[in-house]
Amino acid sequence: MRILVIEDDKNISRQVATILGKAGYAVDISHDGEDGQYLGESESYDAVILDLGLPMRDGLSVLRNWRQQGLTMPVLILTARSTWRDTVAGLRGGADDYLSKPFELEELVARIEALIRRSSGLANPIIKCGKVELDTSNGQVILSGEVRELTALEYRTLSYMMHHQGTIISKTELTEHIYDQDFDLDSNVIEVLINRLRKKLYPELVKTRRGLGYILDCGDVS
Ligand code: CA
Repeated sequence: MRILVIEDDKNISRQVATILGKAGYAVDISHDGEDGQYLGESESYDAVILDLGLPMRDGLSVLRNWRQQGLTMPVLILTARSTWRDTVAGLRGGADDYLSKPFELEELVARIEALIRRSSGLANPIIKCGKVELDTSNGQVILSGEVRELTALEYRTLSYMMHHQGTIISKTELTEHIYDQDFDLDSNVIEVLINRLRKKLYPELVKTRRGLGYILDCGDVS
């Protein structure tokens, strides 16, 4: 899962990126409204954290632009503007959630988890597939009752696939959602990651669809 943070306060953006990284997300940071809007249009994000008071372009106008273009990624507004009128304007501008500063980092992460869950049509924070359970509240992966240790990239890959069960996911799509902008892209890495997941969990969990990509097989857990 990959998140865009648009925030001009570098102290806040660094803290937010650090805690999101620890929670298992790939994170891109933008410090102004123009660059942030462009990233939202050109890259694939599973959620966006958007400040309102931004250089170059106001956050609310960034959000309205995205929504007018039909972009549907969940957006959480994180701002010092904290009156009920601001909140209403943000939500009616197309935001999915609103958090005012000062805020607790853990609350922000929990809200992002919930937004991503809902946008994948899931309600339970524990996502199940076959013999595997992924607890999005603490990043634990459990196989038949036992905790399995995954690397950050393995976790992101599994988490993205668990959130998109029943759909074939191409290598390109996976690449876009598990790496941040600065990562050197190499699609061979995806094959390696998938094979490591099969080894650490079980081989039948991830099916290959030749020429198309991968799909989780959640059936037949016996
Ligand atoms: Ca600001």
